[in-house]
Order: sequence, then structure tokens, then C-alpha cells
Amino acid sequence: MRATKLYAPTLREVPSEAEIDSHKLMLKAGLICKITAGMYTYLPLAWRVMKKIEAIIREEMDAIDGQELMMPIVQPSELWEASGRWPVYGEEMMRLKDRHQREYCLGPTHEEMITWQVAHDLKSYKQLPIRLYQMQSKFRDERRPRFGLMRSREFIMKDMYSFDKDEAGLQASYDAAYEAYGKIFSRCGLNFRPVEADSGAIGGSGSHEFMALADAGEAEVLFCDHCDYAANVEIAALPAENAAAAEVKSMEEVGTPDCGTIEAVATFLGLPTNETVKSLCYQADEDFVLVLIRGDRHLNEVKLQNALNCVELTMATDEAMIAHGLTKGFIGPVGVKGIKIVIDEEVAAMPNQVVGANKKDCHLLNVNLDRDYQADIVADLRMVNAGDVCPHCGGAGHLQSARGIEVGQVFKLYTKYSEKLKAVYIDENGVEKPTLMGCYGIGVGRTMAALIEQSHDDYGIIWPMAIAPYQVAIVPVNDKDEAITACCEKLYQDLMDAGVEVVLDDRKERSGVKFNDADLIGYPLRVTIGTKGLEKGIVELKYRHNGAVEEIPVVESAAYISSKIQEMLK
Ligand code: ATP
Ligand code: MG
Repeated sequence: MRATKLYAPTLREVPSEAEIDSHKLMLKAGLICKITAGMYTYLPLAWRVMKKIEAIIREEMDAIDGQELMMPIVQPSELWEASGRWPVYGEEMMRLKDRHQREYCLGPTHEEMITWQVAHDLKSYKQLPIRLYQMQSKFRDERRPRFGLMRSREFIMKDMYSFDKDEAGLQASYDAAYEAYGKIFSRCGLNFRPVEADSGAIGGSGSHEFMALADAGEAEVLFCDHCDYAANVEIAALPAENAAAAEVKSMEEVGTPDCGTIEAVATFLGLPTNETVKSLCYQADEDFVLVLIRGDRHLNEVKLQNALNCVELTMATDEAMIAHGLTKGFIGPVGVKGIKIVIDEEVAAMPNQVVGANKKDCHLLNVNLDRDYQADIVADLRMVNAGDVCPHCGGAGHLQSARGIEVGQVFKLYTKYSEKLKAVYIDENGVEKPTLMGCYGIGVGRTMAALIEQSHDDYGIIWPMAIAPYQVAIVPVNDKDEAITACCEKLYQDLMDAGVEVVLDDRKERSGVKFNDADLIGYPLRVTIGTKGLEKGIVELKYRHNGAVEEIPVVESAAYISSKIQEMLK
């Protein structure tokens, strides 16, 4: 490719909405162009990178017997009605109608479609396992599209789905995908970590997210400094602390004037916050919910949502609290009616609790579960913080926190979709059974963005050889020197003949401009050809990742560069 022909509209001024480095660099280097909120054109340089990432994914998916297919983006509502998700998917799903007023959506994911597909012709256990995948556009009308390709509305996902006859099979498919993901992200040059992830109401160790570690990451991950435990903060477990046993005392009301926060109550009563109980109110689908958690803890809303198995969870409004007879700042579980009460395990084990009295400026002392109020659900609702003890290694280690970008997720679906969409088979004994499914996604554009987030400097992107848009750039330092031009042209041709992906910067620009652009776009190698070097019969080879420079004889340059590229691809 000649730079004069390369369609890479680089920007001098980056729009202020680009907050993180990868987004800025992608705009600046002419990789992407925004059409509207969360929707981008992948310009040729980015598209080359995307294709390389896809090729790596394809190789690793094929290696675990995945077979690629392609399903429509527009999906009929009937399939989503059948799975039960049509009414509950929420605003992320973009819905549309055809000329006959039939309803469709733009696929935010493809579980329904693939399950229908497999149900369509699955008969016998002999056909299983089946592992199918596609690389395709998804559309999610994200509440807050941002960070460029990192959280866009239209994005390309590799989604694989597995169908097995039993749990051992599902585990084997899951393990195979997990291993393949490790290989994919390593080959893409990412610094990543698989972490235990939220698997919704299914619970258990049913999901892992692959997190590219980066300060700009939207997710918080916790990992142990002693063992290999690592989890998304959304689900990280926190061992329950046992409250000291105590004699159950009689309930009593005390005045707590102006003590509308747990800290104020604790100070006023001369108690540590971990001996008080905090009350929080939520709207969970149709239910008004009162949540109790120890005064010094923070509520984890993902855990709460899983415990309630609800679709929508929002903090209750002041009006809703008043309508349920509650007084903000002084809320408690005693005597309430028509409210679902969900309590944390630690609260369940706490004798003589301090809670709000549902009366302004009053609290109740010595409140005891079962005697004074009933709980509908008891669950782990605690948010874990950095520094807390590890739930895995028996207290030997402590959790540390890091930011991560979720580039992929593997998930056991069990029979959630196969039962509803009838992906059933006849087993060895003639019995009809639903298949056990898994799903496995990778955001291709997000992976590219995450790599840039991890691998750049003040001058631009630093691509690993494996996914660089081009492997090497040739920069003549003087475009009027015929010897230089001839040498560049020859090297350009020789490299192309050797199958190298090369850009010749043949623009009529100062060499400084060319160097800057080469650094910005981030070619792993740059060959500089100048008058002085040529007189000595040498060219200069510069490595983008470490800035090292080598002088190599012109005559050997094409062969040397080709061999270096091969080395760097390993
Ligand atoms: P997030 O929690 O970041 O919204 P998700 O868990 O909803 O993501 P999945 O349904 O697990 O996403 O999708 C699989 C993969 O698709 C993700 O791991 C991510 O790499 C990618 N992805 C999801 N949403 C987006 C998006 N809005 N823009 C770009 N990539 C995305
Ligand atoms: Mg996910």
C-alpha cells in the first residue's frame, strides 16, 4: 500500500467526547469514524485489524470443533416470545416492524435463533455435541454508548453456542471454550485475566469473564494476593462475619433526633456501625422490597437482583417509601406490611439489632429476626472491597482490586433456552431430553480497543505484529533523491513479493510528519532510508514497541525484515 493511496483520514483535533486514550487514538489515527451515537464506520486500517482478530478467533474456534455459520441480524419476535424474553428484554433491544406489522428486533444476541436452528433438526444424542459460531453485528441500544468501540450500539461479536447431551458434555464444551479464549487473547497480545462472573439467577461457577486489565476499564475485578481466586466485584463472595452471641433482650424504642444516617445513629448510640443495621428500599419488578444489611457494609445490587430473580431493579422513590408507610432515614422491618423483606446473612445471624422505627427521629433497639419481623429471603448481599479476606483460601490471602475491560464471556446456559425452544433429543434409552447449552462471546471491536488501551504511548498505537494493520512502513527521508526513491521502490516490491504487509510512505511530506504518522498508526517496524545511510549501503530498522534501532545492509534488508516479522509473529 502506498501512503498516497491509503484511506486513513487522520485527525489533528480529537473531539472532546473522546475520554480514553484508545478512543482518541482510533479517531486520530483514522481507524474509525463516528456516524452517530455508538455507531462507527471501521475505516480500512481498523478493518484490517478486525479481520486479523477474527482470523485468530476463527482458528481457535475451529480447533475446538466450532463450525462457523451466519444467522440473520433481524430476528422475529415469535422466537423471543417463545423464550419469554420479548416482554422483559428492556430498552437495549431495538424493535421494528415490517410492512405487514409483524414485529422483529435487531439481534442483541442470538440464543433464540441458534436454539431454534438446532431444534429444527436435532433428533438423536448421536448428533451431539454441536458447537456453532458466527462473527456478526449485534445491536444494543446501550443507555450510555461511550469510549468509541468499547461500548458502542452496533458492534461485532463472535458468538459461539454449544449443545451437549449432559452436564459432563457441557463442562467439556465450556472448558474447551475457556481454553480457546485464553489462546485467542494471548495471541492478540492482551494482558488479560479470566474472572468468575455473574451467571444471573443460575448461580454457581457458571460463567467467566475475560478481562483486559486497564485503568480505563468499566469493570472492577478483585483477585487474591495469595491464591488464584479472581472475580468480578459484582459477584465476589465475602465470608460472613459471625456476630458475637448475646442474650436476646426486649425490644425498646429510643429517640435518635436528626440521626438520618447509619453513621449518625451509631455515633449517637455509642456503637460501632457493624452493630447496626441499614435499611434500603428498592422496586423489583412489581415488588416493593426492604433490604437489610449490616451498617458498615455496602449492598451489592447484582447479588440482590439474583436473590430476587427480578428483571428490573431500581432504588425506590421517596413517594413509594411514604406510600408504604416508611419514614426516610428511620426505616426498619418491624410492623411493615405489603413489603418483601430481603436480608443479608450477617443480619440474619445478628442478635439485638438496631433498626429504624418507621417514625421520625426514632430507632428500635434489640430487634430480633423471627421474634420481631420475618424475612422473605436471606442471602449474601454484601459488596466486597479491596483488602477484604479472600473467600477461597481460608483467609490466607486478601483481595486486591483492578480495573478491567470485559472482552469476552463464557456462560453455561443449561436448559434455559433448549426447554422453551424445544432443542430436545432422544437419548440412548429412547427418552426425550433438552440439550444443555453454553454460550461464548467475544467483542471483536472491544478487543481491538482494549489492546490499544494497553499498548500505546504519547506518540500513538503500538500494535503487536499479530494484529497490526500493516507490518512495516518504509519512510524515505528525502523524496527528491532518486537513489532513495529507487531503493524504497525496490524494497517495497521485494517485501510485497515476500508476502509482507507493507506501506510505502510516498507522500510529499517532511520526514518528521511521516515519522509522526508511522508512530501514530503504530506499524511494528519502520524502515528509514536516507542519503547518508545509502552511501554506506545501509537502511535503518526501528522497532515501535521498544524504540530499538538497527542498521541493516540494503542488500539483505528484505530478507532480514521478513525473518524479523516471522520471529515477531511467534
Ligand atoms: P457489558 O457488561 O460490557 O455491557 P455484556 O456482558 O452485556 O457486556 P455479553 O452479552 O457478554 O456483553 O457480550 C459478549 C461480548 O460482547 C462482551 O464480552 C464484549 O466484549 C462485547 N460487547 C458487549 N456489549 C458491547 C458493546 N456495547 N460494545 C462493544 N462490545 C460489546
Ligand atoms: Mg458479558
